[in-house]
Amino acid sequence: MVKAADRAGEIGATAIQVFGDNPTAWRRRTEPPGESPAFRDRLAHHGIGPVAIHAAYLVNLAGPDADLYERSIGVLVADMRAASAFAGRFVNVHIGSHRETSVEAGIERVALGIERVLAEVEDGPDAPQLVLENAAGSGWAVGINVEELALLAEAIAARGIPRERVGFCLDTAHLWGAGHEISRPEIVDALLDEFERSIGLDRLSMIHLNDSKAVLGSRADRHEHIGAGQIGPEGLGHLLRSARLANVPFYLETPGMDLGYDAINLQRARDLAAGRPLAPLPESALTIKGSRARGAQPVEPVEPE
Ligand SMILES: [Zn+2]
Repeated sequence: MVKAADRAGEIGATAIQVFGDNPTAWRRRTEPPGESPAFRDRLAHHGIGPVAIHAAYLVNLAGPDADLYERSIGVLVADMRAASAFAGRFVNVHIGSHRETSVEAGIERVALGIERVLAEVEDGPDAPQLVLENAAGSGWAVGINVEELALLAEAIAARGIPRERVGFCLDTAHLWGAGHEISRPEIVDALLDEFERSIGLDRLSMIHLNDSKAVLGSRADRHEHIGAGQIGPEGLGHLLRSARLANVPFYLETPGMDLGYDAINLQRARDLAAGRPLAPLPESALTIKGSRARGAQPVEPVEPE
């Protein structure tokens, strides 16, 4: 993790998202890793923050399975409690799947689950915020549009949960998969208008900036290098330049991070933010796992699980 902080500093990142623990396991360590103080020091040294902690992928607060629900609450409590060891400002979590019950029932379960999680973790000025991420929509996902996110915000408020304890994250690849044509600047603006009107942009805590190699509305979630996918430079550039989002941190979840592509994608995001044209991607970008940049073929829509 110390290496990750230094690499983020080297490439000029000003924010970072990490896993606090194994994202695909229920098991949680009982003590923070020994290197977490050094991680915090290196981040402070490089001036990097806010830190986002990505919660376990296994969490599903929207589903009807009681055992899975209890385990989800447990692991989310653990991830929230562990966040301070990593100077985590946000703990972002996928909202989950209602598993063929109904969106309404899913939303109620999520709101109750959040109430239970937050009751178990300390509140205060340094407490991490729980951040709910929009979904691309496969497998009966909840939170596929602003309307559903607003219903969630309402259900959470109805339980008396303070507004500032729960925020939202918009993932651009998920928006695309869910059918928001954010390749077009006017659609980006309309989406932000709707979010502002029905939830409030003060609650948009994070953006996951990803291009997508999925078909618009396919409900698939396939991240791609910035500006090299189906969304493309115009829409992502417009989002990056939106004055209303000037204070919202953007996090990359693009392919090949462990191969150095984070530097390339960060530069591409900077170029788009400055209105500069994008340089061609290196040849090797074509072959890395998770990428089909340039000449990409749209992938087939996926069926719900
Ligand atoms: Zn994401």
